[in-house]
Amino acid sequence: MTKTHDSIKAVQEAIHNKDPHQTEFLQAVDEFLSTVEPFLEKNPEYEENHLLSILTEPERILQFRVPWQDDKGNWCVNRGYRIQFNSALGPYKGGLRFHPSVNLSILKFLAFEQIFKNSLTGLPIGGGKGGSDFDPKGKSDAEIMRFCQSFMTELSKYIGPSLDIPAGDIGVGAREIGYLYGMYKRLKQYDAGVLTGKPLDFWGSKGRTEATGYGAVYFVKHLLADKNENLTGKTVAVSGSGNVAIYAIEKLQELGAKVVTCSDSNGYIYDEEGIDLALLKQVKEVDRDRLTAYAQKRPQAEYHKDDTVWDLKATYDLAFPCATQNEIDKEKAQIMVENGTKVVAEGANMPCSLDAAEYFIDKGVAYCPGKAANAGGVAVSALEMSQNSQRLQWEKEDVDSQLNTIMKNIYESTRDAAREYGAENNFMLGANIAGFDKVAKAMTEQGLV
Ligand code: GLU
Repeated sequence: MTKTHDSIKAVQEAIHNKDPHQTEFLQAVDEFLSTVEPFLEKNPEYEENHLLSILTEPERILQFRVPWQDDKGNWCVNRGYRIQFNSALGPYKGGLRFHPSVNLSILKFLAFEQIFKNSLTGLPIGGGKGGSDFDPKGKSDAEIMRFCQSFMTELSKYIGPSLDIPAGDIGVGAREIGYLYGMYKRLKQYDAGVLTGKPLDFWGSKGRTEATGYGAVYFVKHLLADKNENLTGKTVAVSGSGNVAIYAIEKLQELGAKVVTCSDSNGYIYDEEGIDLALLKQVKEVDRDRLTAYAQKRPQAEYHKDDTVWDLKATYDLAFPCATQNEIDKEKAQIMVENGTKVVAEGANMPCSLDAAEYFIDKGVAYCPGKAANAGGVAVSALEMSQNSQRLQWEKEDVDSQLNTIMKNIYESTRDAAREYGAENNFMLGANIAGFDKVAKAMTEQGLV
C-alpha cells in the first residue's frame, strides 16, 4: 500500500469519526475518496497541504427555524438549512430540497457532490445546497406560499446574486421559486439574479425546466456517438416522474428511443408500448396527481404498487435513475445487468449505492455518475445568471445548444480523465478527478481558504 493510499484512509477515518451518523454524506465522501488516489500520487502537494481534510469540511452551515401557519390556522414548524460548501470556483450554487427526509447528512452529501458537478460544467460556480424537512405533498397552494415566505425571511440574510444563488431540487419547482423570489424582493429589493429556475415571466431561462433531463440524455448521446451508436430504437427504463424524469423521457422519445417505465414513491408503471408523455405531463404537472391516475387512464400500462422500477425483470438497453438517492443497491444492480442494460445514467443525485456503482463498472456497464450526467440543470442555472446580469432572455434554441455543448464537454473531460489516470471507461473516477482538479487548483491558488 502506498503512502498516498494510507493518507487517504486516514482522512476518511477522521471524517467518519467526526460525523458517524451522517450516512449519506459519508457515502458521497467514500465514493469520492475511492477514486482520487492516482490523482494525488501525481500531485503530492495537495496531500502535504491536507487539501482533502479542508475540502470535506463545509465553509459554512446555516440552520434555522421555519414557523408557518396551515390553512386551518395551526402553527407548524420545520427546519431550514443552507450549506455553503465551497466557493473556490464562484458563488455558492445549488438547489433547495423540500422533502421530509431532508437532514444535515443528506444536504451535506448533495452540497459536496455539487462542488464537483459545478466544476465539471466549466462555469464559474461554487457548491452549495439547502432545503427543509417540510413535506409539500398534500399541501395547498396557500400553505406552500406561506412556507416559502417564512423560509425566505430567514434565508434572505445569507444569500445574494454574487454570494449564494439557490434554485430548485426535489419539491421545489418554478412555483416555489416564484414565492421565494417574491419574498426576497420585499425584503431586499429587486434582484432577479438571486435565484434560478424562475418562471419565464420574470427572468427565468428558457429551457431551464427541461435542462437536467435533456442534459442527461445529451451526455448519453455523446457517449453512444463515441461507440458509433445512437439512441434510435433503444429501450429505456426511467425511474421517477418529476422534472428530471419527465424531460429525460421527452428527449429520449424525441431521439427515437422507447421509454417503458416511470415511478413515484408508491409504485411504478411498466408501459410496454412506451410511456404516453402527454398523459404523464397532465397527471404530474397539471393535476399534481399520483401515477395511479396515469394507470387508470391507460389500461394497457401495468401499475406495480410498492415496487421500484429496478425490481422489474424485462429487457432494456439503457437505465436512467431519476428518482432519488440510493434507489439502486447491489441486488437491484444485478437485476439490471441481467436485464441487459449497457448504460446507467444518473439523472438523480447518488441514486446508486457505492457497491452498485462498482458492480456496474466491474461488469462493463457505462456507469455515468450524477455529478456528470445530471449537471445540465445547474449549467442552465448558470446561464440564467448570465442572462440576468445582461438583463436579457436568450432564445430557447440558443440555451439548448449551449447545454448540448456543455454536456459534450463534460462527457469528454470525464472520459479523458479516466483514460489519463489508467481507468478507461470508469466515469466515476473520471468525473471525480476532472471535477476535483479545477477545485484543487483554485483552492491552492487562493491560499486554501
Ligand atoms: N438541484 C439541481 C442539482 O442537483 C440544480 C441546482 C441549480 O440549478 O442550482 O444540480
